[in-house]
Amino acid sequence: GTPAESHVFEADVARLLHMMVHSVYSDKDVFLRELISNAADACEKLRYEAIAAPDLLAQDPSSRIVLSLDEDNRRLLVEDNGIGMSHDEMIEALGTIARSGTRAFMERIEANKAGEGAQLIGQFGVGFYSSFMVADRVDVVSRRAGSQQAWLWSSDGKGSYSIASADLAEAPARGTRIALHLMEDAKTYTSRWTLERIVKEQSGHVPVPITIIEKAGAEPTELTDGTALWTKPKSDIPPEQYTDFYRSVSGQYDDPALTVHFRAEGRHEYTALAFVPGSQPFDLFDPDRKGRMKLYVKRVFITDDAELLPRYLRFVRGLVDTADLPLNLSREMIQDSPTLAAIRKGVTGRIVKDLEKLAENDADAFLKLWDNFGSVIKEGIYEDFERRAQLMALARFRTTASGEGQRSLADYIRDAKEGQDTIYFLAGGNLEQLKASPQLEGFRARSIEVLLLTDPVDSFWVTNAPEFEGKSFKSITQGAADLAKFAKSEGDTAATGTASAEVQDFIAFAREKLAGEVSDVRSSDRLTESAACLVASEQGYDRQMERILQGAGR
Ligand code: ADP
Ligand code: MG
Repeated sequence: GTPAESHVFEADVARLLHMMVHSVYSDKDVFLRELISNAADACEKLRYEAIAAPDLLAQDPSSRIVLSLDEDNRRLLVEDNGIGMSHDEMIEALGTIARSGTRAFMERIEANKAGEGAQLIGQFGVGFYSSFMVADRVDVVSRRAGSQQAWLWSSDGKGSYSIASADLAEAPARGTRIALHLMEDAKTYTSRWTLERIVKEQSGHVPVPITIIEKAGAEPTELTDGTALWTKPKSDIPPEQYTDFYRSVSGQYDDPALTVHFRAEGRHEYTALAFVPGSQPFDLFDPDRKGRMKLYVKRVFITDDAELLPRYLRFVRGLVDTADLPLNLSREMIQDSPTLAAIRKGVTGRIVKDLEKLAENDADAFLKLWDNFGSVIKEGIYEDFERRAQLMALARFRTTASGEGQRSLADYIRDAKEGQDTIYFLAGGNLEQLKASPQLEGFRARSIEVLLLTDPVDSFWVTNAPEFEGKSFKSITQGAADLAKFAKSEGDTAATGTASAEVQDFIAFAREKLAGEVSDVRSSDRLTESAACLVASEQGYDRQMERILQGAGR
């Protein structure tokens, strides 16, 4: 065939590989779930392409993943009969880092190699390149479905790889075979029992059957049957199976914080299985704010781009499977389909409801979830008008009364002062700074609770959320504080609200001196110890919003 071409890895891949090879992460088993998940993805992509081009499946319609062991040569093969890769797809997929977020993730690992970094490899998985944790050479032979050519990709993971045309007789009839030349200390991956244990632990619910061939010529044995977990009744599924499935669908390897599994019946029929991750996915703050919920039609994977959930639930991982849509669903149909709109609404409503239940039944678990995803969920307060009140009720805040804990708006209203029709807040970048703000003095003296808002998103929803249960929001850095009607705590009588003659004189003096710098100078109830503070005017934005907008305008 053609002579081998040699390619240098993209710089980021080289860095990632270096990390893999020198990984301090002890649980090397993770490479297998990565290869199996790629193999399963490839089978699902083929099933999808075959809807329009049934010939692609040819004589071999059922998907499978086969592990073959060769103890004598210390070799493990992972083979699938999925979509396969063309020459160019190989260069793109196995020579660059295509995944969004991987780069940011890598930086986190590098910043903290021994500690958190090592954990992270296990928690998120790093895809194909993790093979180099156990192998000192990896050969990938692939033949794209329908193609008359096969290609061999080969690398020792040290900076370059080669691609050559492969003998069709040696290649899979369709799909990809990955040969791992295992390192001496990784020879356990040629033991059937090791592989069986790992597959059952990590990949038991991959929706493609997995078989194993113990040695050349031996009969394949089935390890998993590829039954889709979501089609089983809830009562038949123990928690470990949900966790296993969560891990394979999300590419995260922690435990889910919330599992939502239900079947909708009636006008629209579909099954949804969704998870809130136990930690932040590393693409959570990607600017495109894309979700990752997968859409299946009659168990065929269609797309993870159908935006099955609103952006503020983009951290939810899982899938929806429905029989109400055609298999050959075009991009335009996905956008305009009323069925999908109904499914979106149903799934969103159910997830929000289950979040409410969790908040009610397990406050600690909910707080942990809120710490991870609250700043994203709050985007919904100004993006999802229909659920605004529900989302506001879910929100938890640090306040001047929360101590180490967090409080809800319902807590705030329950403990509000008699006659208090306003929810006061102070927004800023840093909790400690907020707590020390002189603006709080008058509120503290009167035991009036103030929300301390530190997420950038807070400034947006408070200005767009005119009220909660009839109470409006007001920044304490804006306009008159109007505290005179509330008595101070230590038996002080309420202030009269009018300043003495001396103060009046001083105000006149200050107005003159600061003319052009400030729009007004007033006496205020908001201070008890400090002499003066800056506030924004009643109209327009509060101080933090001004800062954010100034920052954005630069
Ligand atoms: P990810 O799966 O998140 O995309 P990986 O590093 O695991 O990242 O894989 C990179 C890419 O390599 C895949 O997106 C896919 O295009 C390609 N690939 C890997 N394994 C296979 C396979 N068995 N069959 C077809 N394509 C594959
Ligand atoms: Mg992968």
